[in-house]
Amino acid sequence: MGRYLIAGNWKMNLNQSDSRALAAAIAAQAGDVEADLLVCPPHVYLNQVAAEIAGTPVALGAQNAYHEPSGAFTGETSVAMLADVGCQFAILGHSERRHVMGETDADVNKKLHAVLAGGLTPIVCVGELLAERESGQTDAVIAKQFEGSLAGLTAEDATKIVLAYEPVWAIGTGKVATPDQAEQVHAGLRKLLSDRYNAEIAKSIRLLYGGSVKPDNAAELMSQPNVDGVLVGGASLKAADFLAIAAGASKAS
Ligand code: PEP
Repeated sequence: MGRYLIAGNWKMNLNQSDSRALAAAIAAQAGDVEADLLVCPPHVYLNQVAAEIAGTPVALGAQNAYHEPSGAFTGETSVAMLADVGCQFAILGHSERRHVMGETDADVNKKLHAVLAGGLTPIVCVGELLAERESGQTDAVIAKQFEGSLAGLTAEDATKIVLAYEPVWAIGTGKVATPDQAEQVHAGLRKLLSDRYNAEIAKSIRLLYGGSVKPDNAAELMSQPNVDGVLVGGASLKAADFLAIAAGASKAS
């Protein structure tokens, strides 16, 4: 595992053949990239993408997971099912899950414990709305999401998670946080981790930035001391852009 993780969140985009082609194109170049690469296709394409990236350094992740192990939960996908098709990661509490589907910190927390129990790495997303930033509430919002989403997380399990700071106003809008804005929140998250656990554990947890990351801004974001990678939406749908973003990790380090 290197310092940087470059994660692609394909959201509800692409079809079966496009998903396969994108995964294959990323996998073909993955050996040239110093960063760890992760692709998170829609659930229905996980199997096909798994086949394309098998035997390559590209990891597979899900965009969501349900906390119950099985049963009458129509439309949901358990952690065991995700593991069964080869997922190593699951994104939890993405802003679209929080703000479109109404997920709460308590929901994210249940999912976090289920994902860890199932042996996958959770990528827990936090981030403030524009109105919250403009009214000076960013730190308080992040701290509340941190506490609620990570409730009951032991020190041992804390070393197994990834956190993603995704300001809601920067997701899919073309408005990227400045490297200073990202670093400020990331340094705050590192401190929250350090205060709750210890400095060594805090340092071992990768903190990703997400929100309109593109090839031309990725390296500068990742050159910040507390930015250990990026979670990429729109630009992860083109292999060349995703790989150019990943190449930014080498320039940053
Ligand atoms: C995301 O989907 O997590 C994201 C950050 O999207 P975009 O890169 O398109 O802003």
